[in-house]
Amino acid sequence: PPFPLKLSGKVIKGFGRGSKELGIPTANIPLSGLSVGGQEGMESGIYFGWAGLEAPRADGPDSREASSRSPASADERVYPMVMSVGWNPYYKNTVRSVEVHIMHSFPTDFYGSHLNLLVLGFIRPEYDYVSKEALVEDIKEDIEVTRRSLARPAYAKYRDDEYLVTFP
Ligand code: ADP
Ligand code: MG
Repeated sequence: PPFPLKLSGKVIKGFGRGSKELGIPTANIPLSGLSVGGQEGMESGIYFGWAGLEAPRADGPDSREASSRSPASADERVYPMVMSVGWNPYYKNTVRSVEVHIMHSFPTDFYGSHLNLLVLGFIRPEYDYVSKEALVEDIKEDIEVTRRSLARPAYAKYRDDEYLVTFP
């Protein structure tokens, strides 16, 4: 499918093994998030792009309406991300999942927050790993590929896309 792809969804509980076992947390969004761009059939594998994360809204009933009237600043809420779509063979998953590692250090979890994704490219297919070390090694390489790719003007420009900071 043509890039950029737009995906969107709420962060849900995953299997609780991303950050604990690997040291690389992944925000899971339901597979239905894929329907936003009509991408139900998108190929399994590793992708890179930008993520817009909705600000926490624990500060009163008016905060939600206020934030959708004036989008958050991209400077604060848009981050590089590396995303996996697939069955995660290493863990023998039985359902397809979308998992997003945001390349930023957050002070707290953000379950329930909305995540908008602009997917700009495909990095590689999924592999079946013989060891956890091999998996982590590849994820670190994916993060490096993402960092370098997003620095290029043709990809960097999408950081300012309004879609990323426009939440339902
Ligand atoms: P789960 O199995 O529930 O997905 P993980 O161990 O994969 O748990 O951790 C993911 C959670 O960690 C996310 O849902 C989010 O709330 C939090 N988190 C904190 N920092 C990040 C980050 N940089 N990227 C993705 N998720 C993060
Ligand atoms: Mg996860």
